[in-house]
Amino acid sequence: MLRTSLDYLLWPLILVAALIPTGIGIASGHGPLAFNITYFSLAAVLFVLEKVRPHEKQWLHSDGQEFPDLAHTAFTKSFVQLIVVSLTWLGLATVVGGELGTGFWPNHWPKFFQVVLGLVIAEFGLYWAHRVAHEWMPLWYFHAVHHSSKKLWFFNTGRFHIVDTLKSMIFSAPLLALAGAPKFVVEYFGAITAYIGFMTHCNIEMRFGWLNYIFNTPALHRWHHSMDLREGNKNYGENLMLWDIIFGTYYDDHTRRPPAEIGIKDAMPKSFWGQIVEPFRWKKFQSSAKAGEGGHDLM
Ligand SMILES: [Zn+2]
Ligand SMILES: [Zn+2]
Repeated sequence: MLRTSLDYLLWPLILVAALIPTGIGIASGHGPLAFNITYFSLAAVLFVLEKVRPHEKQWLHSDGQEFPDLAHTAFTKSFVQLIVVSLTWLGLATVVGGELGTGFWPNHWPKFFQVVLGLVIAEFGLYWAHRVAHEWMPLWYFHAVHHSSKKLWFFNTGRFHIVDTLKSMIFSAPLLALAGAPKFVVEYFGAITAYIGFMTHCNIEMRFGWLNYIFNTPALHRWHHSMDLREGNKNYGENLMLWDIIFGTYYDDHTRRPPAEIGIKDAMPKSFWGQIVEPFRWKKFQSSAKAGEGGHDLM
């Protein structure tokens, strides 16, 4: 009984526990500091929980991709920080995220509902950024780096090609700017996307119930990493499932477990720089891999 309640409570408890210090930081003008402390604390908590109650025991073994996973995360994070700093220097950051929202933004709404509105608007962009990456091959070449993981755990949450991440930002940030979202909404959106991202990839045994219809939970995202495209080309939501439900790409199956064998059928270099370069020479790389010229180990 206790175990079952914990199964259902764990995911929302972790999210709330991460959002409380973040909210205090944002309210006191120390949003980035609070976010960074919470981000690394959350990583530590997930690391321990994955060991204590893993969802797939076979995902506890090393896949030899720890360095590329970490390098993609660090590279993308620094690049995004650089863009934010440059935009601030240029004075462009004030266009997005003034203290008060602009235009038609409902400043009079309670803050909670303003954050929900910001999430729904940005999520529309994230949904389509993700969906086109699965349906249009030139963008898939970049997104394939994320899907080439053979296991899911919190550590490979940031395993995205830098071009893939920039594309998601280009699809979502302008929507928040156009909507006139205030600074605190943008800060909450960034933090929630990072925390939910960590949690959708974590290898922790949990249950979600009706939360599966609202949030992108690990249960739903494990289907998204399936090699069977009838399951993999579904659940594109980054944080919310709203747009998947509306556009008919929501997928769940309570009668069986999502596959433990995941990944892509295409070849992928093992090294970080190999993975950075590979999308730009995809066809050449794939044909040499197929021809058995050691394409997997070219870099
Ligand atoms: Zn995907
Ligand atoms: Zn993923």
